[in-house]
Amino acid sequence: QLERFKGTWAAMAITEPGCGSDSAAIRTTATKDGDDYILNGEKIFVTSGERADSVVVWATLDKKLGRAAIKSFVVAKGTPGMKVERLEHKLGIKASDTAVISFIDCRVPAANLLGNPEIDVAKGFAGVMETFDNTRPLVAAMAIGCAKASLERIKEIFKDQLDPDYTTPYLQTSNLAAQIYRMEAEWEAARLLMIKATWMADNKKPNSKEASIAKAKAGRVGNEITLKCVELAASVGYGEDELLEKWARDSKILDIFEGTQQIQQLIIARRELGKSSSELK
Ligand SMILES: Cc1cc2nc3c(=O)[nH]c(=O)nc-3n(C[C@H](O)[C@H](O)[C@H](O)COP(=O)(O)OP(=O)(O)OC[C@H]3O[C@@H](n4cnc5c(N)ncnc54)[C@H](O)[C@@H]3O)c2cc1C
Repeated sequence: QLERFKGTWAAMAITEPGCGSDSAAIRTTATKDGDDYILNGEKIFVTSGERADSVVVWATLDKKLGRAAIKSFVVAKGTPGMKVERLEHKLGIKASDTAVISFIDCRVPAANLLGNPEIDVAKGFAGVMETFDNTRPLVAAMAIGCAKASLERIKEIFKDQLDPDYTTPYLQTSNLAAQIYRMEAEWEAARLLMIKATWMADNKKPNSKEASIAKAKAGRVGNEITLKCVELAASVGYGEDELLEKWARDSKILDIFEGTQQIQQLIIARRELGKSSSELK
Protein backbone atom coordinates (compact mmCIF):
# COMPACT_ATOMS: atom_id res chain seq x y z
CA GLN A 1 0.00 0.00 0.00
CA LEU A 2 2.86 2.38 0.84
CA GLU A 3 4.23 1.76 -2.64
CA ARG A 4 0.83 1.97 -4.35
CA PHE A 5 -0.27 5.23 -2.69
CA LYS A 6 3.19 6.82 -2.58
CA GLY A 7 3.23 10.48 -3.59
CA THR A 8 -0.55 10.84 -3.73
CA TRP A 9 -2.45 13.46 -1.75
CA ALA A 10 -5.19 12.12 0.50
CA ALA A 11 -7.89 13.92 2.47
CA MET A 12 -9.17 12.40 5.72
CA ALA A 13 -12.90 11.89 6.27
CA ILE A 14 -13.84 11.01 9.83
CA THR A 15 -16.37 13.64 10.96
CA GLU A 16 -20.08 13.05 10.28
CA PRO A 17 -23.25 15.04 11.00
CA GLY A 18 -23.72 13.08 14.26
CA CYS A 19 -20.08 12.59 15.22
CA GLY A 20 -17.24 15.05 15.83
CA SER A 21 -15.07 14.72 18.91
CA ASP A 22 -16.34 11.22 19.59
CA SER A 23 -14.94 9.54 16.50
CA ALA A 24 -16.02 6.12 17.80
CA ALA A 25 -19.62 7.12 17.00
CA ILE A 26 -19.29 7.04 13.22
CA ARG A 27 -22.17 5.54 11.26
CA THR A 28 -20.75 5.25 7.73
CA THR A 29 -20.79 1.56 6.85
CA ALA A 30 -18.48 -0.66 4.82
CA THR A 31 -19.98 -3.95 3.64
CA LYS A 32 -17.81 -6.67 2.11
CA ASP A 33 -18.97 -7.77 -1.33
CA GLY A 34 -16.61 -10.15 -3.14
CA ASP A 35 -13.29 -8.39 -3.65
CA ASP A 36 -14.77 -5.00 -2.78
CA TYR A 37 -16.23 -3.04 0.10
CA ILE A 38 -19.36 -0.95 -0.44
CA LEU A 39 -19.44 2.34 1.49
CA ASN A 40 -22.59 4.19 2.52
CA GLY A 41 -22.74 7.34 4.63
CA GLU A 42 -22.02 11.07 4.80
CA LYS A 43 -18.83 12.87 5.80
CA ILE A 44 -18.63 16.57 6.65
CA PHE A 45 -15.80 19.09 7.03
CA VAL A 46 -13.38 17.12 4.87
CA THR A 47 -10.29 19.29 4.38
CA SER A 48 -9.08 19.08 0.75
CA GLY A 49 -12.06 16.80 0.07
CA GLU A 50 -12.56 18.28 -3.37
CA ARG A 51 -8.95 18.72 -4.47
CA ALA A 52 -7.12 15.68 -3.08
CA ASP A 53 -6.32 12.60 -5.20
CA SER A 54 -8.20 10.40 -2.75
CA VAL A 55 -10.19 10.49 0.47
CA VAL A 56 -9.42 8.20 3.41
CA VAL A 57 -12.83 7.31 4.82
CA TRP A 58 -13.45 5.89 8.27
CA ALA A 59 -16.30 3.39 8.20
CA THR A 60 -17.57 0.58 10.37
CA LEU A 61 -17.60 -3.04 9.27
CA ASP A 62 -20.13 -3.85 11.97
CA LYS A 63 -21.67 -1.21 14.24
CA LYS A 64 -22.52 -3.86 16.87
CA LEU A 65 -18.83 -4.63 17.42
CA GLY A 66 -18.10 -1.06 18.46
CA ARG A 67 -14.93 0.89 17.83
CA ALA A 68 -12.84 -2.18 16.92
CA ALA A 69 -14.86 -2.52 13.71
CA ILE A 70 -13.89 0.94 12.44
CA LYS A 71 -11.46 0.77 9.52
CA SER A 72 -10.14 3.30 7.03
CA PHE A 73 -10.57 2.99 3.26
CA VAL A 74 -8.79 4.83 0.47
CA VAL A 75 -11.38 6.09 -2.04
CA ALA A 76 -9.84 7.50 -5.22
CA LYS A 77 -11.21 10.76 -6.60
CA GLY A 78 -13.87 10.06 -9.22
CA THR A 79 -14.97 6.71 -7.75
CA PRO A 80 -18.67 6.26 -8.65
CA GLY A 81 -20.89 6.75 -5.59
CA MET A 82 -18.59 9.34 -3.94
CA LYS A 83 -19.91 12.87 -4.47
CA VAL A 84 -18.82 16.27 -3.14
CA GLU A 85 -22.16 17.80 -2.15
CA ARG A 86 -20.92 21.29 -1.23
CA LEU A 87 -18.01 23.34 0.14
CA GLU A 88 -18.23 25.18 3.47
CA HIS A 89 -17.73 28.93 4.06
CA LYS A 90 -15.50 29.50 7.07
CA LEU A 91 -13.93 31.98 9.51
CA GLY A 92 -10.39 31.21 8.35
CA ILE A 93 -8.21 28.93 6.17
CA LYS A 94 -10.31 30.10 3.23
CA ALA A 95 -7.77 28.87 0.68
CA SER A 96 -8.46 25.34 1.94
CA ASP A 97 -11.53 23.53 0.58
CA THR A 98 -13.76 21.96 3.22
CA ALA A 99 -16.16 19.47 1.68
CA VAL A 100 -19.36 17.64 2.51
CA ILE A 101 -19.10 14.26 0.77
CA SER A 102 -21.77 11.59 0.33
CA PHE A 103 -21.10 7.91 -0.25
CA ILE A 104 -23.93 5.99 -1.85
CA ASP A 105 -23.14 2.37 -2.71
CA CYS A 106 -19.56 3.47 -3.32
CA ARG A 107 -17.50 0.42 -4.29
CA VAL A 108 -13.80 0.30 -3.38
CA PRO A 109 -11.33 -2.58 -3.82
CA ALA A 110 -10.79 -4.61 -0.62
CA ALA A 111 -7.08 -3.91 -1.08
CA ASN A 112 -7.82 -0.25 -0.26
CA LEU A 113 -8.64 -1.04 3.38
CA LEU A 114 -5.67 0.36 5.32
CA GLY A 115 -4.11 -1.96 7.88
CA ASN A 116 -5.61 -5.16 9.22
CA PRO A 117 -9.07 -6.13 7.90
CA GLU A 118 -9.71 -8.38 10.94
CA ILE A 119 -11.84 -6.98 13.76
CA ASP A 120 -9.63 -7.28 16.83
CA VAL A 121 -11.88 -6.41 19.76
CA ALA A 122 -8.91 -6.59 22.18
CA LYS A 123 -6.94 -3.99 20.20
CA GLY A 124 -10.08 -1.90 19.83
CA PHE A 125 -9.68 1.44 18.18
CA ALA A 126 -5.91 1.61 18.31
CA GLY A 127 -5.28 0.91 14.61
CA VAL A 128 -7.12 3.85 13.07
CA MET A 129 -6.34 6.14 16.02
CA GLU A 130 -2.63 5.81 15.21
CA THR A 131 -3.39 8.20 12.35
CA PHE A 132 -3.55 11.01 14.91
CA ASP A 133 -0.12 10.19 16.33
CA ASN A 134 1.24 11.43 13.01
CA THR A 135 -1.23 14.17 12.14
CA ARG A 136 -1.45 15.97 15.51
CA PRO A 137 2.24 16.98 15.57
CA LEU A 138 1.75 18.33 12.03
CA VAL A 139 -1.22 20.46 13.09
CA ALA A 140 0.93 21.66 16.01
CA ALA A 141 3.57 22.64 13.44
CA MET A 142 0.95 24.59 11.46
CA ALA A 143 -0.01 26.50 14.63
CA ILE A 144 3.64 27.24 15.32
CA GLY A 145 4.18 28.48 11.77
CA CYS A 146 1.10 30.69 11.91
CA ALA A 147 2.14 32.15 15.29
CA LYS A 148 5.70 32.70 14.06
CA ALA A 149 4.42 34.76 11.14
CA SER A 150 2.42 36.96 13.55
CA LEU A 151 5.36 37.32 15.93
CA GLU A 152 7.73 38.29 13.15
CA ARG A 153 5.31 40.90 11.85
CA ILE A 154 4.63 42.42 15.29
CA LYS A 155 8.38 42.63 15.97
CA GLU A 156 8.81 44.38 12.65
CA ILE A 157 6.03 46.88 13.47
CA PHE A 158 7.53 47.66 16.90
CA LYS A 159 11.20 47.20 16.04
CA ASP A 160 12.15 50.61 17.41
CA GLN A 161 10.79 49.71 20.84
CA LEU A 162 12.45 46.29 21.17
CA ASP A 163 15.94 45.32 22.22
CA PRO A 164 17.17 43.02 19.43
CA ASP A 165 19.95 41.59 21.64
CA TYR A 166 17.68 40.80 24.61
CA THR A 167 20.16 42.43 26.98
CA THR A 168 17.67 44.73 28.77
CA PRO A 169 16.50 43.03 32.02
CA TYR A 170 12.90 41.85 31.72
CA LEU A 171 11.62 44.14 34.49
CA GLN A 172 13.18 47.19 32.85
CA THR A 173 11.64 46.62 29.43
CA SER A 174 8.46 48.32 28.32
CA ASN A 175 5.22 46.48 28.89
CA LEU A 176 4.93 46.04 25.13
CA ALA A 177 8.36 44.41 24.91
CA ALA A 178 7.65 42.21 27.93
CA GLN A 179 4.47 40.91 26.29
CA ILE A 180 6.34 40.09 23.10
CA TYR A 181 9.16 38.28 24.96
CA ARG A 182 6.57 36.29 26.91
CA MET A 183 4.93 35.22 23.65
CA GLU A 184 8.30 34.21 22.23
CA ALA A 185 8.96 32.01 25.29
CA GLU A 186 5.57 30.29 24.94
CA TRP A 187 6.15 29.87 21.24
CA GLU A 188 9.54 28.22 21.83
CA ALA A 189 8.03 25.82 24.39
CA ALA A 190 5.33 24.80 21.91
CA ARG A 191 7.90 24.35 19.17
CA LEU A 192 10.07 22.05 21.30
CA LEU A 193 7.05 19.90 22.25
CA MET A 194 6.11 19.63 18.59
CA ILE A 195 9.65 18.61 17.62
CA LYS A 196 9.69 15.95 20.35
CA ALA A 197 6.36 14.44 19.23
CA THR A 198 7.42 14.52 15.59
CA TRP A 199 10.81 12.98 16.35
CA MET A 200 9.07 10.15 18.22
CA ALA A 201 6.73 9.55 15.27
CA ASP A 202 9.64 9.51 12.83
CA ASN A 203 11.50 7.04 15.03
CA LYS A 204 8.44 4.80 15.48
CA LYS A 205 8.23 5.39 19.23
CA PRO A 206 4.72 5.36 20.80
CA ASN A 207 3.84 9.06 20.98
CA SER A 208 0.06 9.38 21.50
CA LYS A 209 0.47 11.38 24.71
CA GLU A 210 3.26 13.57 23.33
CA ALA A 211 1.28 14.19 20.12
CA SER A 212 -1.67 15.42 22.21
CA ILE A 213 0.57 17.52 24.47
CA ALA A 214 2.16 19.18 21.44
CA LYS A 215 -1.21 19.78 19.77
CA ALA A 216 -2.81 21.16 22.96
CA LYS A 217 0.06 23.51 23.71
CA ALA A 218 0.66 24.69 20.14
CA GLY A 219 -3.05 25.08 19.38
CA ARG A 220 -3.63 27.20 22.47
CA VAL A 221 -0.43 29.23 22.15
CA GLY A 222 -1.10 29.77 18.45
CA ASN A 223 -4.51 31.25 19.22
CA GLU A 224 -3.15 33.42 22.03
CA ILE A 225 -0.20 34.77 20.07
CA THR A 226 -2.04 35.57 16.85
CA LEU A 227 -4.88 37.34 18.69
CA LYS A 228 -2.49 39.19 21.02
CA CYS A 229 -0.56 40.47 17.99
CA VAL A 230 -3.82 41.89 16.58
CA GLU A 231 -4.41 43.50 19.98
CA LEU A 232 -0.94 45.05 20.20
CA ALA A 233 -1.15 46.48 16.69
CA ALA A 234 -4.76 47.58 17.40
CA SER A 235 -6.38 49.27 14.40
CA VAL A 236 -3.45 48.28 12.17
CA GLY A 237 -3.76 44.70 13.35
CA TYR A 238 -7.50 44.57 12.75
CA GLY A 239 -7.40 45.91 9.21
CA GLU A 240 -7.25 43.76 6.11
CA ASP A 241 -4.18 45.63 4.85
CA GLU A 242 -2.22 43.51 7.32
CA LEU A 243 -2.05 39.71 7.47
CA LEU A 244 -2.29 39.78 11.29
CA GLU A 245 -6.09 39.59 11.20
CA LYS A 246 -5.93 36.67 8.74
CA TRP A 247 -3.48 34.71 10.87
CA ALA A 248 -5.69 35.26 13.94
CA ARG A 249 -8.66 33.83 12.03
CA ASP A 250 -6.63 31.00 10.49
CA SER A 251 -5.12 29.89 13.81
CA LYS A 252 -8.50 29.15 15.45
CA ILE A 253 -9.06 25.95 13.47
CA LEU A 254 -5.68 24.59 14.58
CA ASP A 255 -7.07 24.31 18.11
CA ILE A 256 -10.20 22.55 16.81
CA PHE A 257 -9.50 20.00 14.08
CA GLU A 258 -7.62 16.74 14.69
CA GLY A 259 -9.18 16.91 18.18
CA THR A 260 -10.10 20.04 20.08
CA GLN A 261 -8.16 21.56 22.99
CA GLN A 262 -10.54 19.82 25.42
CA ILE A 263 -10.15 16.45 23.72
CA GLN A 264 -6.34 16.67 23.79
CA GLN A 265 -6.48 17.44 27.50
CA LEU A 266 -8.80 14.47 28.01
CA ILE A 267 -6.39 12.15 26.19
CA ILE A 268 -3.41 13.44 28.20
CA ALA A 269 -5.32 12.99 31.46
CA ARG A 270 -6.27 9.41 30.52
CA ARG A 271 -2.65 8.58 29.76
CA GLU A 272 -1.33 10.22 32.94
CA LEU A 273 -3.94 8.57 35.16
CA GLY A 274 -3.96 5.21 33.39
CA LYS A 275 -7.71 5.43 32.67
CA SER A 276 -9.54 4.03 29.66
CA SER A 277 -11.88 6.08 27.47
CA SER A 278 -14.91 4.58 29.23
CA GLU A 279 -13.45 5.38 32.67
CA LEU A 280 -12.65 9.03 31.87
CA LYS A 281 -15.06 10.77 29.48
C1 LIG B 1 -12.37 23.95 8.82
C2 LIG B 1 -12.53 22.57 9.35
C3 LIG B 1 -11.82 21.54 8.78
C4 LIG B 1 -11.97 20.23 9.23
N1 LIG B 1 -11.32 19.21 8.61
C5 LIG B 1 -11.62 17.93 8.93
C6 LIG B 1 -11.09 16.84 8.16
O1 LIG B 1 -10.30 17.01 7.25
N2 LIG B 1 -11.51 15.59 8.47
C7 LIG B 1 -12.38 15.33 9.48
O2 LIG B 1 -12.73 14.17 9.68
N3 LIG B 1 -12.88 16.35 10.25
C8 LIG B 1 -12.51 17.62 9.99
N4 LIG B 1 -13.04 18.66 10.73
C9 LIG B 1 -13.92 18.35 11.85
C10 LIG B 1 -13.23 18.57 13.19
O3 LIG B 1 -12.27 17.57 13.43
C11 LIG B 1 -14.34 18.60 14.25
O4 LIG B 1 -15.02 19.83 14.07
C12 LIG B 1 -13.78 18.52 15.65
O5 LIG B 1 -13.26 17.24 15.90
C13 LIG B 1 -14.84 18.84 16.71
O6 LIG B 1 -16.01 18.14 16.47
P1 LIG B 1 -17.43 18.91 16.46
O7 LIG B 1 -17.27 20.11 15.58
O8 LIG B 1 -18.49 17.94 16.12
O9 LIG B 1 -17.60 19.44 17.92
P2 LIG B 1 -18.18 18.63 19.18
O10 LIG B 1 -17.55 17.28 19.28
O11 LIG B 1 -19.66 18.70 19.14
O12 LIG B 1 -17.63 19.51 20.38
C14 LIG B 1 -18.22 20.76 20.76
C15 LIG B 1 -17.44 21.30 21.95
O13 LIG B 1 -17.54 20.37 23.06
C16 LIG B 1 -16.24 20.00 23.50
N5 LIG B 1 -16.25 18.59 23.90
C17 LIG B 1 -16.69 17.53 23.19
N6 LIG B 1 -16.54 16.39 23.87
C18 LIG B 1 -15.96 16.73 25.05
C19 LIG B 1 -15.52 15.99 26.20
N7 LIG B 1 -15.66 14.66 26.26
N8 LIG B 1 -15.00 16.68 27.24
C20 LIG B 1 -14.86 18.03 27.18
N9 LIG B 1 -15.24 18.78 26.13
C21 LIG B 1 -15.78 18.13 25.08
C22 LIG B 1 -15.33 20.22 22.31
O14 LIG B 1 -13.99 20.43 22.72
C23 LIG B 1 -15.95 21.47 21.68
O15 LIG B 1 -15.49 22.62 22.32
C24 LIG B 1 -12.85 19.97 10.33
C25 LIG B 1 -13.53 21.03 10.94
C26 LIG B 1 -13.39 22.30 10.46
C27 LIG B 1 -14.18 23.39 11.12
